[in-house]
Amino acid sequence: FLKGRSAIVTGSTSGIGLAYAKAFASEGASVVINGFGDAADIEKERAALAATSGAKALYDAADMTKPDEIAAMVQRCHAELGGPDIIVNNAGIQFVAPIEDFPVEKWDAIIAINLSSAFHMMRAAVPLMKAAKWGRIISTASAHSLVASPAKSAYVTAKHGLAGLTKTIALETATFGITVNAISPGYVWTPLVEKQIPDTMTARNMTREQVMNDVLLDAQPTKEFVTVDQVAALALYLCRDEAKSITGANLSVDGGWTAA
Ligand code: NAD
Repeated sequence: FLKGRSAIVTGSTSGIGLAYAKAFASEGASVVINGFGDAADIEKERAALAATSGAKALYDAADMTKPDEIAAMVQRCHAELGGPDIIVNNAGIQFVAPIEDFPVEKWDAIIAINLSSAFHMMRAAVPLMKAAKWGRIISTASAHSLVASPAKSAYVTAKHGLAGLTKTIALETATFGITVNAISPGYVWTPLVEKQIPDTMTARNMTREQVMNDVLLDAQPTKEFVTVDQVAALALYLCRDEAKSITGANLSVDGGWTAA
């Protein structure tokens, strides 16, 4: 149902972002993937996406800390694929430390990548979507857009900000056929989660087992990690015509975490 549409997914060389790109491609969309990683691995993913969709797939290396590169990626999509019809603000990083030990440069990087990049993406894409009278904007927020955890000051701040930004742009675009929503996953098993285990072990003086069970899955009543495909399936639904009245929402996919 996305044949002829184009989608940009930031931070899509890995994890949840790659699952979104695969989901859009499976419905025929052309996609722009973005993020860091090994060049050969990225090219393999890009080629696989083009093969799946039967449409074009591009890789753009825009760094989400660089507003000019973000705007250029949106313009490149417009020139080479049309649109963008769908943008997903998904790139994100994590750093875990109590505030007195939190490095200032990590704070700045998390605010830039997890929050400001979404502003720059939407600032560049909304005029094109308004002109087309159709658009779907999705941001990967987090359960941490609704609740906090210790030692995650920058991440929790960025994700709460992203939830507010989502509502604001939903109001600004509501009469233009554009929807703007956030998806807020609980713990999804991806490299981002795996990488924070050692730091959480240090910050909380715990073993790997204790972090997995007492910190990560403790928050999640289902006692299961969310999967990247479950998150991507919701994004795909938000792109359907049936979802046109869902805007300004922050949709939890968190195994009941934020119900507790
Ligand atoms: P991941 O580490 O697997 O993927 C992150 C992606 O962002 C990668 O493609 C990486 O290259 C890219 N990236 C990082 N810095 C970048 C930069 N400066 N410019 C461009 N790309 C950059 O992580 P993930 O778990 O798939 O996370 C994706 C999103 O989902 C993030 O916003 C994260 O906060 C959010 N999220 C994840 C979980 C989880 O449990 N994994 C839960 C809730 C929300």
